[in-house]
Amino acid sequence: MAPQFPLTPLFMSDAPQQHIASLPTKHVISRLSTARKIMGAFLCLLLLAGANIFLLQSLLRDFHAMAATVNVAGKLRILSQKIAVETMSLSVEQGSGVAEIERSMRTFDVVLQALIHGGTVFGIDIQKLRPPHDELLKTLELNWGGYRQGVQKALAILALPASGTAEKTATHQWVGGDAARMLGHTEALIDSIVDEHQAAQRQVMTALYALLFVDALILLLGFVARQAFNGWTQRLANLIVRIKRDKQNLKQAKADFRMASLVYQNSSEAMVVTDPEGVIVNVNPAFSAITGYSANEALGAKLSILHSGRHDAAFYQAMWQSLLATGKWEGEIWNRSKDGREYVERIVINTSYNDDGSVQCRIGLFSDVTQKIQSEALIWRQAHYDHLTGVPNRKLFQDRLDGAIARSSLSRGRMALVLLDLDFFKEVNDTMGHGMGDELLKEVAARLGKCVRATDTVARLGGDEFTLILEEVEDTEVVERLCRDILQALAQPYQLAEDVASISTSMGVSFYPDDGRTAQELLTNVDLAMYAAKERGRNQFCCFTPQMRQTADKRRRLLRDLVNALREGQFVLHYQPIVELSTGYIRKAEALIRWNHPELGLVGPVDFIPFAEDAGIIVKIGDWAFREAARQAALWRKSYCNDFQISVNVSPAQFMAGGLSDTEWLGHLKALDLTGDSIVVEITEGLLMDATAQVSRNLLAFRDAGIQVALDDFGTGYSSLSYLKKFNIDYIKIDRSFVCNLAPGTGDIALCEAIIVMAHRLGLKVIAEGVETVEQRNLLMQAGCDYGQGHLFSAPVDAESFSTFLVTSA
Ligand code: C2E
Ligand code: MG
Ligand code: MG
Repeated sequence: MAPQFPLTPLFMSDAPQQHIASLPTKHVISRLSTARKIMGAFLCLLLLAGANIFLLQSLLRDFHAMAATVNVAGKLRILSQKIAVETMSLSVEQGSGVAEIERSMRTFDVVLQALIHGGTVFGIDIQKLRPPHDELLKTLELNWGGYRQGVQKALAILALPASGTAEKTATHQWVGGDAARMLGHTEALIDSIVDEHQAAQRQVMTALYALLFVDALILLLGFVARQAFNGWTQRLANLIVRIKRDKQNLKQAKADFRMASLVYQNSSEAMVVTDPEGVIVNVNPAFSAITGYSANEALGAKLSILHSGRHDAAFYQAMWQSLLATGKWEGEIWNRSKDGREYVERIVINTSYNDDGSVQCRIGLFSDVTQKIQSEALIWRQAHYDHLTGVPNRKLFQDRLDGAIARSSLSRGRMALVLLDLDFFKEVNDTMGHGMGDELLKEVAARLGKCVRATDTVARLGGDEFTLILEEVEDTEVVERLCRDILQALAQPYQLAEDVASISTSMGVSFYPDDGRTAQELLTNVDLAMYAAKERGRNQFCCFTPQMRQTADKRRRLLRDLVNALREGQFVLHYQPIVELSTGYIRKAEALIRWNHPELGLVGPVDFIPFAEDAGIIVKIGDWAFREAARQAALWRKSYCNDFQISVNVSPAQFMAGGLSDTEWLGHLKALDLTGDSIVVEITEGLLMDATAQVSRNLLAFRDAGIQVALDDFGTGYSSLSYLKKFNIDYIKIDRSFVCNLAPGTGDIALCEAIIVMAHRLGLKVIAEGVETVEQRNLLMQAGCDYGQGHLFSAPVDAESFSTFLVTSA
């Protein structure tokens, strides 16, 4: 059954109404085209003109009749005179004229009768004269009677042959007298008729003026009527348009209602209608599907049956405030279904009002978005938290850092950013496996969480890098204390399954606003501070100083210039002698690279070799150094002694990048007519620890070609004896750090003695680096060390100076 409440405001589209409302009324009116209007006006004027002509004709009809009467009366007068003239001129001889006179008298009779009674004379229709002329007519008729008798009498007399002149004259006199009277009467009649004519003329003129006035009045009335008609037509057209529109609206409304009804019943969105007090008056099937309440159960109940209790009073207050103010509210609510399941619904509530503005009902449309919200929350969590350690990831860290900076900026407070990098974490991964590495990282995150306040942020940026955001830290001391605590906490052994691991941490600290005002600045600086901690020997923290940036800037500049240095021929090799301690002979030298920078002067290898390694240019630089050293070896073999050897330092990065081509190097030696033993390759212990198959092949190829291998900086790394055997090392170079503190009875001399004994046992020769004093040399000699290298003999010098040195020391 269709619902019994007004769904239209909710469901009905108002598009058709808009369409009808936009029908142009003027357009309908314009159907009464201008041509029709002109035609109408023309017809009206024609009608008016016709009426005028009709009126004029009727007026002029009397006027013409009067003119005809005047004409006839005039003829009557002439006739009277004609009769007299003819009578008086009649003679006996002329007896024939009597008939003419009698005809004239008969004509006179006829004319007079016509004037009295109306009729046709002389072919003219005349009407009988009006009563005002009756008196004159009677007089005229009476006189005519006398005149007629007189004329007949005169005719009789004149017809007598015996009548004399006197009689004739008398006859003439009375006929003349009668004729004169007749003339007077006829003229009086004519005057009377002319007066009437003139009166009629005046009347016609008056009537014409009246007609003119009436015409003007008619035209005015016509204009007014037209205006009124136009307004009426307009109203009529509007009415027609409205009726049409209403009809279409009604049709559309019916269609909409049908559709709304369908939607209501079949919608997957739940719909609920309540009265103003919140009592449910209607629900659709989707409502029952979501809430579990059937229509029967829901009707009459209050919406509060769905309350989950998750929202506080303030939440509902805000909702009602919005409903009362705007009639609308939308948002997400946690509700509870009949079976107790809590769900989130996304609801839109609208209000329908009565004509008097009171609330008729409220309509709620909602859908269950629980799954969507849960999956969104999961996605959000996955996107913002590190899945391994559960702490915020780089993205959330970035957001929190931005937020912390904004808050600090507002409160003009200070905050600290700490960057932590675990030292040698790679070794844990390599030796204990990545699973254990992961466990260690989790433990690190947990320990960090315990060290900081709940309001601080611990985040993992990736790998073994963690960060801390410490807000409201006015005192640097507090941060430093925290860093010390963290160093200590993280240095505690980690129980990883059966194994125990220990690590240290390098930390950098930068402060807002002291070291940067933007997240980028703070991050860059904290990175520099952390690297400074690494460089200073790890297991410590460093606070950022501007000096670090200068160093970094310098490095960046060097890195930039490094690309061109090789092409520009800016590298140079210096040579440091390696002296056979027992004889004092110089049989070897170490080639040490320098960069002759156009602006900075001579730059030592420690300042650019690490960049060259990072940038991958080390392969080309190392290649150049080998070829240059070999060229120099060939020269000195010729000029100084034919078994002279030059040591060349080879970076692990050269091996790793796969850029070291032993065949090319051997080919180069061959081209210089050198045997393999003219070169010693100096490698570090680290290379052997990470040795790949490629490294082993390279070293094997060197050994096969007679190139010897020296293990540089021995004692600073893992110093594994098994490596010495495995890779057929020829020389051990005791690191300078052991040599510089050599003194009798010290641990260092014991260590050097142990290294020397062990090396000799394994068939290796020993070179002591950094020999600066005679005492050191003597102690080393006593310990059985084979070779010495250091400032005591010579600092590294260019090839030319070295040649001189060789000649002088020979
Ligand atoms: P290294 O191979 O251990 O070289 C010995 C370093 O000790 C040289 O520093 C040398 O100048 C310095 N030295 C020698 N005798 C004494 C002494 O009596 N007292 C003191 N204080 N120092 C002494 P240098 O030339 O700065 O080289 C540093 C490091 O740079 C080298 O250490 C080597 O690892 C690397 N290196 C040098 N040249 C090259 C090269 O061509 N390729 C590669 N990959 N690395 C190179
Ligand atoms: Mg070396
Ligand atoms: Mg060394």
